[in-house]
Amino acid sequence: MEFQIQTKKKTELVDITDKVREIVNKSRATTGVCTVYAPHATAAITINEFEPNLANDFEAIFERLIPKGNYQHNRIDDNAEAHLLSSLFGSGKSIPIEDGKLALGTWQRIILCEFDGPRSRKIIVTVVEG
Ligand code: ZN
Repeated sequence: MEFQIQTKKKTELVDITDKVREIVNKSRATTGVCTVYAPHATAAITINEFEPNLANDFEAIFERLIPKGNYQHNRIDDNAEAHLLSSLFGSGKSIPIEDGKLALGTWQRIILCEFDGPRSRKIIVTVVEG
């Protein structure tokens, strides 16, 4: 299953937990693994608390981790920073399913990281029972 997210800013965190949870519920899997994957070279998936101040902290750390610079890829389409951040954070996550539910901790949310928006982003969710 998949769904689209329209991001609104150059850098943005979007909480996609409810959409993923809906897919897991529909699958009726009781035990297994859910993978959440963003097939994009300038976005990522992370799992963490989703809270506005922390979102601001994340955006600040993106710039400190990969400062604007004279990267070679910027000669092509000027978004090397976004590509490098995508690889640092990773394109996907696997979350166990226990008792029919995502085994997320109390404060954990599944978050799409946009590094080169605004864009339409596809999220692919796979549920494997077992
Ligand atoms: Zn590029």
